This record gives sequence, C-alpha cells and structure tokens, in this order.
Amino acid sequence: MHTSTRPYYDAIVVGARCAGAATALLLARAGLHVLNIDRSAPGTDTLSTHAIMRAGVMQLNRWGLGAALESLEAPPITSSTFYYGAEAVEVSLKPKHGVAALYAPRRRDLDALLVRAARTAGAHVRHRVSLVGLLRAPDGRVLGARLRADDGTVHEVRSALVVGADGTSSKVARLVQAPLVRTTHHAGCTIYGYFESLGLQGYHWHFADGATAGAIPTNGNAACVFVGLTPADFYGHASRNLDQGFEQALARSAPDLWRRVRHARRVEPYRAFGGHGGFIRKSTGPGWALVGDASYFKDPGTAHGISDALRDAEILVRALLRDPTELRRYQSERDALCQPLLDVTDAIASFAWDYTELKAMHRKLSQEMNRETEHMAAWDEAGARPSTVSWHRPLAKRAGPDSPRNQNVAALEAAPSSVRT
Ligand SMILES: Cc1cc2nc3c(=O)[nH]c(=O)nc-3n(C[C@H](O)[C@H](O)[C@H](O)COP(=O)(O)OP(=O)(O)OC[C@H]3O[C@@H](n4cnc5c(N)ncnc54)[C@H](O)[C@@H]3O)c2cc1C
Repeated sequence: MHTSTRPYYDAIVVGARCAGAATALLLARAGLHVLNIDRSAPGTDTLSTHAIMRAGVMQLNRWGLGAALESLEAPPITSSTFYYGAEAVEVSLKPKHGVAALYAPRRRDLDALLVRAARTAGAHVRHRVSLVGLLRAPDGRVLGARLRADDGTVHEVRSALVVGADGTSSKVARLVQAPLVRTTHHAGCTIYGYFESLGLQGYHWHFADGATAGAIPTNGNAACVFVGLTPADFYGHASRNLDQGFEQALARSAPDLWRRVRHARRVEPYRAFGGHGGFIRKSTGPGWALVGDASYFKDPGTAHGISDALRDAEILVRALLRDPTELRRYQSERDALCQPLLDVTDAIASFAWDYTELKAMHRKLSQEMNRETEHMAAWDEAGARPSTVSWHRPLAKRAGPDSPRNQNVAALEAAPSSVRT
C-alpha cells in the first residue's frame, strides 16, 4: 500500500446511492468539480423495499429523470390500500405537482440511474473506492479525504467539502464525531422476499396486532413482499429461520396476502433487517456535511428514506450554493421537514396502537408528506431550483488550465484503472 497526493475537488461525496449520487448530480450541474466514491461495486442492490413516495418521484421529475425512472422495469403505482385488520381502505393517487404515478424500482436500477445522471453532469464517480480517513487542518476543518482503492493504493484528495452520504454507520460522521441531536425509541425489524405473479397492483400495507406486512410491485412481474416484526419476535424466533419467520408473520398479519404468496414463486432468498433506532445527527461542520441515512434515519416502516434522501440532497446543495458559510441552514430547513415525519414513524414503529390510533397516525403522516411536497414545489415557484441559482463557483475559485487543481485533475485521469470506474 502506498500513499500519493491526489487531485483537488470542490466536493468529495462518499456513498453513491440515492443520497450520494443525487448530491453529486446536483453539485456537478452547478458547475462544481465533484468526486463521488462508493466502496461497493456498481449496480449492486442494498437493503430496501424500494417504494418511492410522491416527494421522491417529484424530485426525479424536477431533475429531468422522470422518463428514465419510467423506463426502468418497475410498473407505475396509482393506489395504496391500507388494511386495518379486515378493513381495507384504498387511496388513489391524485395527480399533483407533475406526479401521476409512484414507482418502486430495484435499488440497483435506481442508484445506477442516479450515478449515470451524475456522470452525465460531469461528476467523477468511482466505485470500489473506500473512504479511510479525512485530511484535517490544525483547527479541525476538513480539507479532503484519504481514499483506498480495491488494489490497496491509498490516495489523499483535497477538497473544499466532504459530504458523507455513506449510510447509517457513516464513517464521515464517526471521523468528524458528529453528535446525535435526536434519537427515537422504537426499531422495527423486517423480512422480505420477491414473488412473481401475485396479481396485485398498487402498494398494499397491512397492519395487525404486533406485526405489519405489505406488497410493493417492483421490477418485471415481481412484488417485494415484506413483514414487519417487533424486535422481541424477530430476535426471539424469526431471525433463526427467515423462511418460517416470514411465513408465520405473514399468515398472522395479512392472511389474504399470505394465500397469494404461498402459491407464488419466490425468486430470491429472503433478506432481513434487524432494526435500527431513528436519529438525527448534527449534519454540517467546517468542511463537511452529511446527507441521507448518514444524517437522519427513521424506521423503514413508513417507506420514506429514499424520498428523504432525494429531498435532502437538494436542500443541502441549495444551501451550499446560497452561501457555503451558512451550511447549517441546510440542517434547519431539513429538520423542520423531517422531525414530524420522524415522530410519527416512531409512533407507528412502536406497534403500541389500536386501529383508531393508527388511522390518526396515518392521517398525520399524510399531512406531513403533503407539507413536504408543497415545500419542495415552492422551490420551483420561487425560481430558486439549482438550475437557476447563481452558478458561480461558491466553493473554490475557477481555476485556469495550469492551476495546481487542474494539474491534479490530470493526475487523476492517469490514475490506475482500479481507481477509475
Ligand atoms: C429493510 C428496509 C426497507 C426499506 N424500504 C424502503 C422503502 O420502501 N422506501 C424508502 O424510501 N426507503 C426504504 N428504506 C430506507 C432506504 O433504503 C434508505 O433510507 C436509503 O437507502 C438511504 O440512502 P443513502 O444513499 O443515504 O444510504 P445507503 O443506501 O445506505 O448508501 C450508502 C452507500 O455508502 C457506501 N459507503 C459506506 N461507507 C463507505 C466508505 N467508508 N467509503 C465509501 N463508500 C461507503 C455504501 O457502500 C453504500 O453504497 C428501507 C430501509 C430498510 C433497511
């Protein structure tokens, strides 16, 4: 392993999925010189049941990626049905803010779509590259990153900003010691699998005593079917035998769905998530910022993490372009939107509700999701979306071809292929 000095970037974004690739895309469209790295291989999946809500589809449309989203294999979703025991409540999606359908593509496709868009916008995206350290000034300001390629070579890359979009156990958050400013009380567990030809359209969300379930149509003819369990049930027995744990929980929480599933073909092994408490981290500091699950996480039961990540990528970039010295405005704007969603999600994840209480929670959730989309729609009306924000370089002065920065860029282009993807 050896260390070499690498190029200068305006921003290094760690993590190239829905938060990181979206942030890289918007920064690159703003004319910034962006490096986006991810330690995983390109086009891989991650733990997720895929449902994108209105706010997320709206973001993809606003960024000009609506047609690309529709061209993925996932079918359009125009209704959600909520089952409170035997009572079914179907809600049709009203077309609004340019969103006539929702989608739930496999993450390997959605994340790859965002990576392609980031590359097209000019971001350098490198997979199989890990953040292993940060470069710091004596006063603690982050000045860049130490990156390790999969051949073991380590490169020091300077940048005005390092963005951690590296998930719940964010290395960036650990290195800058970003404190938790809020934590929640409950953490549900999930088991899910993919089943062909269930004959279901729309999202289906089932709620029963101590368990939830759902079906989310995704790529091809398959639906992602999940069960949500308390930690006591998951760790008490279900995690020891996922097939049995899934089947028992589904039969208990959604008997009709179970009747369809038991005759359908499962196309991949079950996957499980052992739960994680919700949190909000301090998300900005000198030379660094956090976005996506790295900065804010809530129980996946309300299926809003992808939409959050797309929203927060834009809040961060807009704050940065307005005034890079006032990055904390990103956190205040973001937290005003996400705190109520975090609270209601935590209440749902408690499993401590009867159906009257749960319906009230769903009304609150719906109100907060509407408030969020109205807030984001107003960005366009104010004419302040990234394509119209003043596109001067706010992070670094424009450099001429002979500047040290551009010489370093040339050095990166000559880097070993393992660093270039
Ligand atoms: C079981 C489950 C079901 C879910 N279902 C839904 C759903 O239906 N709808 C929804 O909207 N949300 C859902 N979510 C939440 C959603 O998956 C997350 O909110 C979303 O993935 C967050 O995206 P992200 O880009 O912030 O982080 P991630 O998707 O976690 O990506 C982080 C990336 O950072 C990379 N990385 C980490 N460390 C390093 C490092 N040191 N160097 C380089 N790269 C690094 C990782 O390789 C990874 O690719 C679900 C979550 C779970 C667990």
